[in-house]
Amino acid sequence: MPTRQFYTIGYDGRKPEEFLSLLKAKDIKAIVDVRLRPDNERQRCYVANIRHFLDKNGDFPNIMPNPARKMAIFLTRIISSATEAFLKDRVLVSMQCNRKGCHEEILVWLDDLNKDIEWFCPECGDNGFISNWRGTKWDKTSRLSSVVAELARRG
Ligand SMILES: [Zn+2]
Repeated sequence: MPTRQFYTIGYDGRKPEEFLSLLKAKDIKAIVDVRLRPDNERQRCYVANIRHFLDKNGDFPNIMPNPARKMAIFLTRIISSATEAFLKDRVLVSMQCNRKGCHEEILVWLDDLNKDIEWFCPECGDNGFISNWRGTKWDKTSRLSSVVAELARRG
């Protein structure tokens, strides 16, 4: 049986030419739109630098508006899950979506310690990128050097 390889890609926040060049780079022959509601323009893409949610000690600030605190907690949980998944060489881990009324589990992943953590909700389509997560309290790879983390991942 011939094997087929599947990739995932998000388009939000990418320029069309960037999207196409990524498809060409992997020699993608077909695309399937797996959003449950592709017409849902209310899906949101969150591009977050986690340091913007933290004080200079890397903690949540004492004074922080509630929505920002809620988002910060959500994002730091994603960092924990994604870095743990990275160490175990698992691509996806699920946790509950943050969107009000959405009870789906989101997918989180991290391909490379030098890249952003990505997440996606297959139900509401909310998705995001988290940058600057390395070395935060929620980064489970932070006590290891990149090399050791890579070795741990390979077992
Ligand atoms: Zn959702």
